[in-house]
Amino acid sequence: MLDNETLDITSDEVKAKNEFEYKAEMKQLLHLIVHSLYTHPEVFLRELISNSSDALNKIRFRRLTDSNILDPDSELKINIDIDEKENTFSITDTGIGMTKEDLIGRIGTIASSGTLEFFKKMEEENKSLDANLIGQFGVGFYSVFMVTDEINIETTYAVPNSKTYLWKSFGEDKFTVEEIENKPRGTKISFKLKDEYKEFAQPWKVKSILKKYSNFVDFPVYVNAEKVNIVSALWHRKKEDIKDEELNDFYTFISNDSTPPMAHLLLNIEGILNFRALIFIPETAPPSLFQDALEKSLQLYSNRIFIQDNCKELIPDYLKFVKGVVDTEELPLNVSREVTQSSPVITKIKNVLVSKILAQLEDWAENAQAKYEKFYNNFGSLLKTGINADFTHKVQLIELLRYETSLRPKGEKVSLKEYVQRMAEGQKEIYYIMGDHRDLIEMNPNLEYFRKNELEVLYLTDPVDVFTIPYIFEYDKKQLKSIEKADIDIKKVNKEEKSSDTSNKGLLDYFKEVLGDKVEDVIESNRLVDSAVTLVVGKQGFDPQVEKMMQYIDKNFTHSKRILEVNTSHNIIRNINSLFIANSNPELVNNAILQLYEGALLLEGKLPSPNEFLKRMNEFIELSTKSKNVGEVS
Ligand code: ADP
Repeated sequence: MLDNETLDITSDEVKAKNEFEYKAEMKQLLHLIVHSLYTHPEVFLRELISNSSDALNKIRFRRLTDSNILDPDSELKINIDIDEKENTFSITDTGIGMTKEDLIGRIGTIASSGTLEFFKKMEEENKSLDANLIGQFGVGFYSVFMVTDEINIETTYAVPNSKTYLWKSFGEDKFTVEEIENKPRGTKISFKLKDEYKEFAQPWKVKSILKKYSNFVDFPVYVNAEKVNIVSALWHRKKEDIKDEELNDFYTFISNDSTPPMAHLLLNIEGILNFRALIFIPETAPPSLFQDALEKSLQLYSNRIFIQDNCKELIPDYLKFVKGVVDTEELPLNVSREVTQSSPVITKIKNVLVSKILAQLEDWAENAQAKYEKFYNNFGSLLKTGINADFTHKVQLIELLRYETSLRPKGEKVSLKEYVQRMAEGQKEIYYIMGDHRDLIEMNPNLEYFRKNELEVLYLTDPVDVFTIPYIFEYDKKQLKSIEKADIDIKKVNKEEKSSDTSNKGLLDYFKEVLGDKVEDVIESNRLVDSAVTLVVGKQGFDPQVEKMMQYIDKNFTHSKRILEVNTSHNIIRNINSLFIANSNPELVNNAILQLYEGALLLEGKLPSPNEFLKRMNEFIELSTKSKNVGEVS
């Protein structure tokens, strides 16, 4: 049980020392909890019950395969004892207990990185710090510090001959751990309530809060020796017999999310495969969708007995935002992690779950667009990763994609199906452009031609798109094509095709001479309307967004050379051409060419050194202001 990763101290130190300092980040978190958390203080009760229930689940599971445990026959239960006169509260379970190392390493550390930052940010932004949040970060135990200043934990771990330890907290700085007289297996957490929270020492109050959750706890819960719950597995009841309120409460109980879920699926599958499941799609996304440490997706039960929390084999990563339980009788009771990893039953259940969840999403996409949009804004990025990972459902997932486009107002998204239905006559490809956000994309000169000709272009603003687009490749036999690629086939849809003008050939060759190996090529542009030049991607090159991502992954990654497209009908280019033909000011021509090229780089955020660019720009300013003065004088 020694958890070296979370321990900053050696085992020798553990033996020798009784007093410990919280780590710096833990102190800060405690400070925030004590001084800034004020909504829903009753959350501490749910957290304590949920920790006891986890500990009881663990020992029940251990007992199935291991008879060599401490107090093997003790009843699995939770006792809450409160004293109105003394203002005291205690919760005792006969669960798995904790070792001394657990007490030091698990109580007193923050499980996942980013937790503290998240809370600080919330505080800085003056958002109300909701105690409900802290359970989602694996620091639920600390919610107790909202209602008390000092906590005692007495615990005895479940192996025979375990010693009993007392963990005592002292405010926000220190805690002590010492051996005490032996107690039975399990954990007792006790404290005196702060004056303003003495209501939690009143039995009616505690019972009314417990009513919400304790029925989902699979063990009897007693308040001052009175049993307060009916143990019942919600997912074994009939649809009609379950109230919405119960579903919402159950969701909150398993997810720590107090916002009612967007939807639930109650499944009772019978036949070759047998299982029951209660799956929830949350209404809101957790703060970090891609962070693994925080996810607690599906719980696995075998015939109502809890087996595993967050059973990853039951659900693919791209759907791990769902919460819920799966209960099957088809697994041996002594099922271990290894068994679930290779079990064909689990794989079959997973397939059923995926198709049921996707069917729900398809239904929203078809019949409840606003709902789907909300879902997509929350979980779309994660859902998309399924396109790369799940070949079986790839086609279904592609249908579920939604993008903003050049022909639709900001915020409105279309499917590939809609896009194809609206495609212009003669258009053979699906156009897209990638960028960090819509406003930036709309400044890109490569979009000018498409805008002018009302050719719809998908705006790919999600970083995940960089990875998924190559896997989609085509839709309805139409290739997805970046409008930043030089070889895009726009001439065929160009209604007012330009007659090829050979008089610019000399100038374009000269551009090439001046820019040398900075560019792959210089060509006449078909796509520019308002801008003089633009950079596009050659046949071998990658989209700028893809390059950005590659550079992020590999610092030594070098950009591929780009093709400079020149708008020969633009005034600037015409002027340069006249100067070039007259050969009257070669230096000015050279500088203008370099300036145009570097301006295009600047727009992409890739100008390596702004010094030269600025120097040239100042020269141009000097030149134009000078001629203006001369004009005014004469
Ligand atoms: P979480 O429960 O999300 O891991 P907590 O801060 O609530 O986060 O608890 C931290 C850890 O302390 C738990 O993971 C568990 O190992 C241990 N713990 C807390 N309460 C108990 C208990 N009653 N019995 C055994 N272990 C417990």
